[in-house]
Amino acid sequence: MREISCAQIRAAVAQLFLTANRQIAPDIRQAVTDAADRETSTAARYALSQLTENYVCAEEDGLPICQDTGLAVVFAEVGQEVRITGGLFSDAVTAGVRDAYTEGSLRKSVVDDPLFDRTNTLDNCPPILHTALVSGDRIHLLGIAKGFGSENMSRIGMLTPAAGEAGVLRYIVDTARLAGPNPCPPIIVGVGIGGDFEQAALLAKRMTARPLNKRHPDPRYAALETRALSEINALGIGAAGYGGVTTALNVAIATAPTHIAGLPVAVNICCHASRHAEINL
Ligand code: SF4
Repeated sequence: MREISCAQIRAAVAQLFLTANRQIAPDIRQAVTDAADRETSTAARYALSQLTENYVCAEEDGLPICQDTGLAVVFAEVGQEVRITGGLFSDAVTAGVRDAYTEGSLRKSVVDDPLFDRTNTLDNCPPILHTALVSGDRIHLLGIAKGFGSENMSRIGMLTPAAGEAGVLRYIVDTARLAGPNPCPPIIVGVGIGGDFEQAALLAKRMTARPLNKRHPDPRYAALETRALSEINALGIGAAGYGGVTTALNVAIATAPTHIAGLPVAVNICCHASRHAEINL
């Protein structure tokens, strides 16, 4: 067994959220730069150029890319040959998020009770933690700082198999259409197809962090990604809602086996401030 301490996990999680909030991933920065170059709307081109300038300022000055520094979501893959020492894994993850948001002066955006009290927990905790046991002796951590302007525009549809490919495509594109300028476009669209209610949503959230140069390995789903992206961009919402040719930077689909009577489709929208970082321990 390989030992990994809670102190290592805590430090890694803290670094993930500091990095994610201050440094946009290179592929997203490049995609926004490319979108600015081909934009036909003057206002949208200006908005895109402001985004790229904002990315540079945030990284150079160590400031958050956006004032909404997000709800901390962690996808953890824990190798079965790892022995975690010095405490509970979930406590270490929570402590790492707390460190990042308190010591990094990131906005605290979590309330304890969702409906009545809504009292800020003052440390951006608890995070949302998804843990999977995998083979090997490593821990892989993906941290996503999820802003809620875009999260609030996400949807899940419990379609039936009769909806078919056309129904799935319509659901994805309609989600972007209904969102309009609210999720701070250009957006990244994560889609989960299959599984059940919660698995579809999990797949969709995970897909918001997929590298932009990847496509679904099945060419039929890869084609669906491309077609959905094209149709969303044809909506003309554009960067910051100023029209033009780029409403979305990517559509990423993940799939899972499902029930014979079901075709769940979850669409998780992420804004241009798609903040995520990962590390292997
Ligand atoms: S949706 Fe994204 S860019 Fe817009 S305010 Fe929220 S975190 Fe910031």
